[in-house]
Amino acid sequence: MTTRTWTCMCGSFEGEVKGDPSLAVWCHCGSCRQQTGAAMQLGIFPELKVLKGEDNLIAYKKNPEANITRFSCKTCGSFCYKNINGDTLVAPLGALKGEGETVKPTCHIFVADKGHQDIMFDTLPQHDAFP
Ligand SMILES: [Zn+2]
Ligand SMILES: [Zn+2]
Repeated sequence: MTTRTWTCMCGSFEGEVKGDPSLAVWCHCGSCRQQTGAAMQLGIFPELKVLKGEDNLIAYKKNPEANITRFSCKTCGSFCYKNINGDTLVAPLGALKGEGETVKPTCHIFVADKGHQDIMFDTLPQHDAFP
């Protein structure tokens, strides 16, 4: 089984995912755009582990009822991972090291919410919401 790791920009966080993502996407939702200023490459992995820096993460929910918790580094602000509904673990594909670079998004999601500056040049399938 392939193991992939990534760190935040300052290196205080390190994460690990095992196996291939069940879904790898370009997410165009408003939250990803607000957090990054652009669409974000995300992968849903069966297993995600924080190897270091857990005590230096800040957890953010858009509102108390939100089902998504985003974890970012307190020091450098990098998005580290997110947890949806307590059991869906999402890693930033663009940050994965080494073989992580071989994980490519297979579709675009939340295209109905994309930014007006967001031009998609590829031929990947586009979904207005989560497929
Ligand atoms: Zn950091
Ligand atoms: Zn998103």
